Amino acid sequence: MSSESISATLAAIVGPDYVLTDEASCILYAQDVFTRDKTAACVVQPETTEQLSRLVAAAVAAGFAVVPRGGGMSYTSGYVPEEDDSILVDTSRMDAVIAINQEDMYVTVQVGCSWKKLYEALKDTGLRTPFWGPLSGFHATVGGSISQSSVFFGAGLFGASADSVVSLDVVLADGSVLSTGSAAQKNGSPFFRHFGPDLTGLFTCDTGALGIKSTITLRLMPEFKSIRHVSYDFDNYESQIKALSEISRQHLAAQMFGTDPGLGQIRAQRDSLMNDVKALGGVLKAQDSLLGAVKQGAKIAMAGRRLVKNASYPVHANVEERCDAAADEVADQIAAICQQFGGKKIENSVPSIVRANPFNPLNNMVGPQGERWVPVHALLPHSKVIESVKVTEAIYEKYSDMIEKHHIVTGFLFTTVSTNCFFMEPLWFWPDELNELHRETVEGNVLAKQKGFGANLEARHAVESMRKELVAAFSEMGASHLQVGKEYIYRDGLKPEAFELIKAIKAVVDPTRRINPGCLGL
Ligand SMILES: Cc1cc2nc3c(=O)[nH]c(=O)nc-3n(C[C@H](O)[C@H](O)[C@H](O)COP(=O)(O)OP(=O)(O)OC[C@H]3O[C@@H](n4cnc5c(N)ncnc54)[C@H](O)[C@@H]3O)c2cc1C
Repeated sequence: MSSESISATLAAIVGPDYVLTDEASCILYAQDVFTRDKTAACVVQPETTEQLSRLVAAAVAAGFAVVPRGGGMSYTSGYVPEEDDSILVDTSRMDAVIAINQEDMYVTVQVGCSWKKLYEALKDTGLRTPFWGPLSGFHATVGGSISQSSVFFGAGLFGASADSVVSLDVVLADGSVLSTGSAAQKNGSPFFRHFGPDLTGLFTCDTGALGIKSTITLRLMPEFKSIRHVSYDFDNYESQIKALSEISRQHLAAQMFGTDPGLGQIRAQRDSLMNDVKALGGVLKAQDSLLGAVKQGAKIAMAGRRLVKNASYPVHANVEERCDAAADEVADQIAAICQQFGGKKIENSVPSIVRANPFNPLNNMVGPQGERWVPVHALLPHSKVIESVKVTEAIYEKYSDMIEKHHIVTGFLFTTVSTNCFFMEPLWFWPDELNELHRETVEGNVLAKQKGFGANLEARHAVESMRKELVAAFSEMGASHLQVGKEYIYRDGLKPEAFELIKAIKAVVDPTRRINPGCLGL
């Protein structure tokens, strides 16, 4: 069947306005933050599970590859088509919050619902999901995050996004709709994850290789209203990492992060006066009293000025507890750990701003002057973090000529997941041309103020090579990853028994290998 005929078939299912065949859309939706490669045959935008099921069945029967895309905020080619003439399924119209069940404590959303939208829907209920969003939650969808797992808000206490999921509805390659968790029963509802083997877990983190999720149910819990912010600065990364690990092991911070001087330098350079003013507004609103607001505002303004001067290794933590006494106690424990490792207390403006404005436009996906940005990451046991930083620095050292020649800025972002996992994210900023997705995502007034750069293929290839070497090094160290997509080493890094099982499952749910081919090495 030709691309034209399949587009007509899909238009009959979702309506002609929701099958995009213009070149600009087919280019835009098929590229991610880092990779621009094949163009989609068309972009289809279903609104319901029924439409999704019918379109998948029709496209697969006609032999087309079908690739799901949520907010498009990943950077490991997860939704970048491997084959020519692939059909991109954009889930942005499937964005409803279907049910907030306060009696049974779960919320069900359509996959295209953003974390911001879910956050706003729950705001006045006094409830939240345990994990409640990545920093990209302004655009990132619940479906995309659960399909590759994400970390940040809530992850310090409650684990990654996939750990908060109870049940899924997944459209398989033949168009059938599989329900998981307690909802897999003939008479079930989606209130609990485990009944026999964990079918929910099978589809979380599959990066869309096993099926296309249509709805997701997450657990609810009471919102913790007593919030504290703690910031300490260290003069070397070893002490910073040891403090982050110990805070994680003791299960203290709701979420926290650390940066290095490279990332600090970028932050200081950002021409973000307007954003800071907006962010400050959010913090002030979050203060209970006018006096508290004025004091906090003055502290933040001073800390902002100091930030520019310091080359430092800060740790920023948010504490969220049920009552003020508990929040104070936990904040004191974090402070004691930081002091034990030589940290010096600094203003807590950064975590205050992050917590008060969780989901902002993603202007940070480019550098302060419009540089390109890309990270890579590893999920590590605490015992391997310092070694991993050294391995990363050795790779940076190997490329030092290129780094210097092209003014490539390297940096690190650290965070933790529950008590047992350290998230390390090396990242790069380099002068290079932005692609269509950057221009679509970053706010126009921010782009307009930036210098911008022409295409710089040599620098881009140097970053690509460093990234690949790091991915290989992480695999050798036994690291785990979020957003496996088509870039992290999954297939070749697994023991054969594990990969054979995944392959056999793929053969059952997608026998002709039409759903997101290439993801997970399948
Ligand atoms: C500025 C910025 C900040 C970020 N901050 C964080 C952060 O704090 N924490 C973090 O973990 N990540 C972060 N990320 C990475 C990324 O945004 C997140 O992983 C996010 O969860 C991706 O969601 P998405 O909806 O954009 O997914 P997409 O990028 O659209 O898709 C991700 C993967 O899921 C698949 N997929 C999408 N929808 C479905 C579906 N319905 N069924 C099956 N498969 C599907 C896609 O094929 C793809 O493989 C950040 C990215 C940016 C640009």
